[in-house]
Amino acid sequence: MPAFKIPLRQYVGLLRGYLSAQRSSIVWLSVLLAAGLVMQLVNPQLIRYFIDSAQGAASDRALWIAAALFIGVSLVQQGVAIAAAYISENVGWIATNKLRGDVAEHCLRLDMTFHKSHTTGAIIERVDGDINALANFFSNFIITLVSNLLLVVGIVILLFREGWLIGAGMSVFVVLAIWAIQYIRKFAIPHWGKLRQMSADFYGFLGEHLEGTEDTRANGASDFVMHKFHTLLRQWLPIRVRAFLGWAAMWITTLVVFTLGNAIAFALSAYLFKQGAISIGTVYMIFYYTELMAKPIEKIRTQMEDLQKADASIVRIRQLLDTKPAIRDGAGAPIPEGPLSVTFDGVSFSYESGDRPTLDRIDFRLEPGQSLGLLGRTGSGKTTLARLLLRFYDPQYGDISLGGVPIRNDKLTHLRKRVGLVTQNIEIFQGTVRDNLTFYDSAVTDERIGLVLAELGLEDWLRSLPHGLDTRLDSGGGGLSAGEAQLLAFARVFLTDPGLVILDEASSRLDPATEQRLEAAITKLLSDRTCIIIAHRLATVQRADRILILDNGQVAEYGNRQALADDPESRFSRILATGMEEVLA
Ligand code: ATP
Ligand code: MG
Repeated sequence: MPAFKIPLRQYVGLLRGYLSAQRSSIVWLSVLLAAGLVMQLVNPQLIRYFIDSAQGAASDRALWIAAALFIGVSLVQQGVAIAAAYISENVGWIATNKLRGDVAEHCLRLDMTFHKSHTTGAIIERVDGDINALANFFSNFIITLVSNLLLVVGIVILLFREGWLIGAGMSVFVVLAIWAIQYIRKFAIPHWGKLRQMSADFYGFLGEHLEGTEDTRANGASDFVMHKFHTLLRQWLPIRVRAFLGWAAMWITTLVVFTLGNAIAFALSAYLFKQGAISIGTVYMIFYYTELMAKPIEKIRTQMEDLQKADASIVRIRQLLDTKPAIRDGAGAPIPEGPLSVTFDGVSFSYESGDRPTLDRIDFRLEPGQSLGLLGRTGSGKTTLARLLLRFYDPQYGDISLGGVPIRNDKLTHLRKRVGLVTQNIEIFQGTVRDNLTFYDSAVTDERIGLVLAELGLEDWLRSLPHGLDTRLDSGGGGLSAGEAQLLAFARVFLTDPGLVILDEASSRLDPATEQRLEAAITKLLSDRTCIIIAHRLATVQRADRILILDNGQVAEYGNRQALADDPESRFSRILATGMEEVLA
């Protein structure tokens, strides 16, 4: 037996966890397989009886009965095999679908650090490819293994009944055959793991670039992408070739071994027949059993192979499931209702530990209901600050509190309900307008959605939709203008009724009419809420009570908007005088 990469306990744990719900199916499967086993063992005996009777002077009637029995048993055996395959496929799919669900859910719960370091394609390969490799392992691994072992043992016992020589000879053969096949297997296996990894890399690459087709083409990076594509394919080929050569080597070994088995059986039977120890019917039966033996040994081999594939997959899935989200629910008091105060207390954060901090000792406080205009060059850390407020990342130093409660204390889902974020790029999901607004929360009534859309000045837009709230939107924002998408995002935030709203304003590409609608919507959205507006346009800053200017992750200026505007020395007044672009860009 080869050394397994993971302890047996883990296999047992996995099997028990995912199969316990299907106990009755598994019992049925065992019964069917046992029945099939008995029939396989009985049939050669019938043949022997038939041959020997035909040679002797038995009546036709006995021959007819033997023949009918043989055909009957064969047919029933096929039926049993089909039923067993049906049940085991079902068991396998139910178990792996559950596992798929668990792994997918786990991935969704993992934080940004994980998702930034794993491509979509690689995750898909885990959730789908690896779990597919486990399907057989779940559906019938142990049962098939056990029943085939029993079949081999049964055959050997029946052969012993015919004479110790034939029994001993075939036993030696079985041991040698299994050993030889195991031996060859060692050379083939490592390549299978590499093959899976390679395909994960490849699909990761493919997924990433299919997603970004527009950008790739617009920027003329197609050649580069194709080059990478060919490079990956070229790396893939030799690994594939080696893996399949390994497989072929095993296949050929198996063939050779079984031919040897037949030869041994013939030699021994010929010898015993010459001695007059066995009948011609028995010779045929021995031959039949040796032929039959190939099947379980082959089956055991493929099962072991599956186990090995499952092994690699289990290791990877375990690793994935063991990846704990770095950001976890707090156990303390929840963030209060209503507009929230915001406190940053010596907050420093960098994406990679050891890097220069992206945010450096940020201190400020907003009273409930106040609005903050956040300014700064591109890359100064504005979006990062917003991400910290939603705990997409936790800062390495300092504390952030909302409504006087440190955000680490609250549950993540509650925190994210209390803080609404409209990002620079708005995701539209494939689904209806309603789904996109409520995120599939059926508790939100259509009346409520209608009210919110009306408040945002979107009733005309809603009326213009062919099927109202049931109009389907394509993923990736298809069918919506940038302005409409943004208004939709506002409506989303409105529906959750947060106490703090963060607007990460997209560098504006809106027409004046939409912009006006947007202004009106923002005013609505912000009334009676605390808000942070990451502004790229001076117009949006005019509504802010306070201004914070970030420079290289540090607070360059913070204060009352009016006071800063009146102070000719302040950066903000310079921005007002010369325009945002001049000072910041
Ligand atoms: P913009 O005005 O262009 O939106 P910003 O002020 O929002 O810029 P941030 O997105 O906060 O800037 O980025 C601040 C810095 O952090 C940049 O140098 C950026 O390269 C880096 N950064 C942003 N996101 C990540 C990430 N996920 N991993 C590592 N570094 C990041
Ligand atoms: Mg940004």
